[in-house]
Amino acid sequence: MTSAPTGIPGIAGIPQTVADLRSTFDRGVTTSLAWRLGQLRALRRMLTDRAEDFEEALRSDLAKHPTESQIAEIGFVVGELDHTLRRLRRWLRPRRVAVPGALLPARASTLLEPLGVVLIIAPWNYPVQLLLGPLVGALAAGNTVVLKPSELAPATSAAMARLAPQYLDRRAVAVVEGGVEETTELLAQRFDHIFYTGNGRVGRIVAAAAVEHLTPVTLELGGKSPVYVDDSADLAAVAHRLAWGKFMNAGQTCVAPDYVLATRDVAGRLAEALGDAVRELYGDRPEQSPAYGRIVNDRQFERLTGLLGAVGGAGAGTVAVGGEHDAATRYVAPTVLTDVPLDAPVMQEEIFGPILPIVTVDGPEEAIRIIRAGDKPLALYVFSERASVRRRFLTRTSSGAVGFGVPAAHLGVAGLPFGGVGASGSGAYHGERSLRTFSHEKAVLAKPLAPDTLRLIYPPFTEGKDWF
Ligand code: NAD
Repeated sequence: MTSAPTGIPGIAGIPQTVADLRSTFDRGVTTSLAWRLGQLRALRRMLTDRAEDFEEALRSDLAKHPTESQIAEIGFVVGELDHTLRRLRRWLRPRRVAVPGALLPARASTLLEPLGVVLIIAPWNYPVQLLLGPLVGALAAGNTVVLKPSELAPATSAAMARLAPQYLDRRAVAVVEGGVEETTELLAQRFDHIFYTGNGRVGRIVAAAAVEHLTPVTLELGGKSPVYVDDSADLAAVAHRLAWGKFMNAGQTCVAPDYVLATRDVAGRLAEALGDAVRELYGDRPEQSPAYGRIVNDRQFERLTGLLGAVGGAGAGTVAVGGEHDAATRYVAPTVLTDVPLDAPVMQEEIFGPILPIVTVDGPEEAIRIIRAGDKPLALYVFSERASVRRRFLTRTSSGAVGFGVPAAHLGVAGLPFGGVGASGSGAYHGERSLRTFSHEKAVLAKPLAPDTLRLIYPPFTEGKDWF
């Protein structure tokens, strides 16, 4: 369904919604710096005035604790907004480019211009951050926008549809709620950019649809983000960082550590330390901790318990921590598996839940071989105090990001581009990179007609012009 305030009923209204946004763009409504800053401030007001609405929606969709919602969703986008509001004027200044001597006198520069009408498709796991984070860049760049929240986070989707029109310029931002049918209809329209966050299967559908209109896409996908731990690291400290990064949002985080590669002497001790860390973060009964989330829906719950069901069987690993689950509340305990072979079911797909397998390796060389044999990950985390080990991972593996000593936190650094590579995505955003993602960088060259230095290369190519 299309959000009520636009007054458009259902899928049938989608072409008109997009046409209206194009008309707004074509009339130049969104180009001025004043309009852009005004919209960014309005978005900030929406997030701060209505923080409780979003917290409530996130609690309903994912049992997120309000503090986690502030840190990873609402406050995160406010941070992006503040970073952008302070710098946008400067980022938008034309940039001078050197002109080669043969073309002088002339002035060359680049200028960022808005693309037009852009589509932002978000997933359910961080339904505020991953819808409104890209919106910051899209508005800063002066575009009109269709926001497509995930139908699998229905309370957040409804909050977006209700609140966005109250705060943002309705001529320029439309929320289209719905699932596959609505998204399919959206993808049939012509956009000037599509920004998609979610799984790679749908990423391929989005990319294929975009080809029809030669629309550029940003694909923020997922995959298995590996961790390497060696004996030079303080394992209690490592376990805290890993337990935090893995079990936040019940493991439903695109940059969560997916699995650990550790040497034999480290694996057992790390599993024990992870047990201690889980108790410190969530107590002896994580199911009673208000800080611990729930699995988003029954389908995901069954997928995860299916993965756990295989554990204990021949060659599928051993439960070292957790393992309990409850279908009625979609609770899956923070779980650590040891002795997990590479062909175990948990190692065949992105886990996207609170299950952390530890795979034993001989050392960094074997770990690098395993990582290189799989898809390029969204993130790689290395816990080693040895500079040579860090350097080896940095130069011999490819991933969207690398975290030394900390998982997931790189996405909180606005100056770092956030995105994947290969199967984990293409394109990036956050901070200035978001503005650039949603802009065209136009090349501008201005050369005075006189003196006409180009005479030197005009035909006829008589003697004296044979430079080459
Ligand atoms: P999801 O099921 O909510 O899907 C994402 C979006 O795609 C939704 O808006 C949905 O309506 C739409 N969609 C679903 N099926 C479609 C179809 N057939 N055609 C068109 N649109 C369709 O979320 P998800 O994909 O389950 O999200 C989890 C995945 O996203 C994981 O793989 C995770 O790693 C990845 N992810 C990546 C990032 C990142 O920033 N790189 C962030 C979060 C999640």
